[in-house]
Amino acid sequence: MIRGNICLNAHPAGCAREVENQISYVRSKNASRGRVPAGPVAGGSHAEGRSKPLGAVLVLGCSTGYGLASRITAAFGYGAATVGVSFEKEGSETRSGTPGWYNNMAFDRAAKKTGLASVTINGDAFSDAVRLRVIESAKTMGLTFDQVIYSLASPVRTDPDTGILYRSVLKPIGAPYSGKTVDPMTGNLMETSAESATEEEIAQTVKVMGGEDWERWITQLEKAGVLSRGCATVAYSYIGPSLSHAIYRDGTIGGAKKHLEQTARTLSAGMSRTIGGSAFVSVNKGLVTRSSAVIPIIPIYLAVLFKVMKERGTHEGCIEQIERLYAERLLAGSPVSVDGDGLIRIDELEMDAAVQGEVVSRLSRISAGAAGAPSGIQDLWDLDGYRHDFLAASGFDIRGIDYEADVARMDTIGEV
Ligand code: NAD
Repeated sequence: MIRGNICLNAHPAGCAREVENQISYVRSKNASRGRVPAGPVAGGSHAEGRSKPLGAVLVLGCSTGYGLASRITAAFGYGAATVGVSFEKEGSETRSGTPGWYNNMAFDRAAKKTGLASVTINGDAFSDAVRLRVIESAKTMGLTFDQVIYSLASPVRTDPDTGILYRSVLKPIGAPYSGKTVDPMTGNLMETSAESATEEEIAQTVKVMGGEDWERWITQLEKAGVLSRGCATVAYSYIGPSLSHAIYRDGTIGGAKKHLEQTARTLSAGMSRTIGGSAFVSVNKGLVTRSSAVIPIIPIYLAVLFKVMKERGTHEGCIEQIERLYAERLLAGSPVSVDGDGLIRIDELEMDAAVQGEVVSRLSRISAGAAGAPSGIQDLWDLDGYRHDFLAASGFDIRGIDYEADVARMDTIGEV
């Protein structure tokens, strides 16, 4: 069931297979990266990464998108024990849970099979109660975190100090915005518009998606003594093409991301003094995840971008992006390579001038000729690829899954 560019249900076995595919991808890169290959070691508990640079990693927002890819890379690429936090709806015998709930089960199952320690906590990462649960888990497991990945994407946050609920909005600042978007299932183009945000909405969005909660996490983890010396923390951001800046980078969410970047600088200064640690923001590629599918202009931009990047052989999904982030930036030696603003850039293939030039030209051709049905534009964009990624994020359209078969229960991913 799809409504308003959101899949309302999920396929348990499809979600599980997609997680396994991502694990296989990371394992397939282990040899070429010179990482210790995956596989159980007789008698040993930690099968992977005997000379691993990562002992333990905390992933906030571990169940889907970039957070899931980070957890998979840390565990199956570098042998890390992982603690993951996400906020997902459980499935019941007859009702679908959210995709991330099935993804977490698939991750935990694969980790266990490989001898990798993993604990998954389903709860509100903005609450101090969940912070305490993470700290307790770390202490029980006898580990400290070498890395903390901050990959939350949420429309709401309750401030633990005041109990006030804040809402983020995706709006432009200063002037209304209108642009095209696409229905991934039909390919129909639609005009979307958003009113300019009020001061209150701008401030609330920073409260939800800015750096306040990230800082609270690091402060409390450090105080509890569960961060390793030299710990690195990384939050994710997006900048994207200038055609989306009015709605994204220069809009409310972009304002929150700038606050996140400022927080990285403050955190880094503090962490380097106390534990020799560091904080980064990594700017990642635009991809189809549950969050990005509802941003105006982004779906149509991504459908064109995918086509152009696939033609050039430079297209990547979440797992390819994050595997490369770890291997070529975060764990490629010190200092970590950053741009003039101190940001890690793993979006460089997307932002390549020739790629962007071609995307802009195709978008204007689509805009000019496309009122209603998109006849004649199939060669300009990769709508099939976009649709696949959109469906795959909920466990549909996955090769090898029989979608005709009855799903006996919706509260399990089944046996392997
Ligand atoms: P996503 O929707 O796939 O994942 C969000 C995660 O946050 C999920 O695990 C969800 O369970 C978790 N979450 C949400 N609210 C929570 C709460 N209250 N408590 C605990 N967990 C909660 O999103 P994504 O697209 O992977 O985005 C993750 C980060 O990457 C965001 O900061 C986003 O801005 C950034 N990013 C996304 C893109 C993109 O194109 N999707 C590009 C660059 C950067």
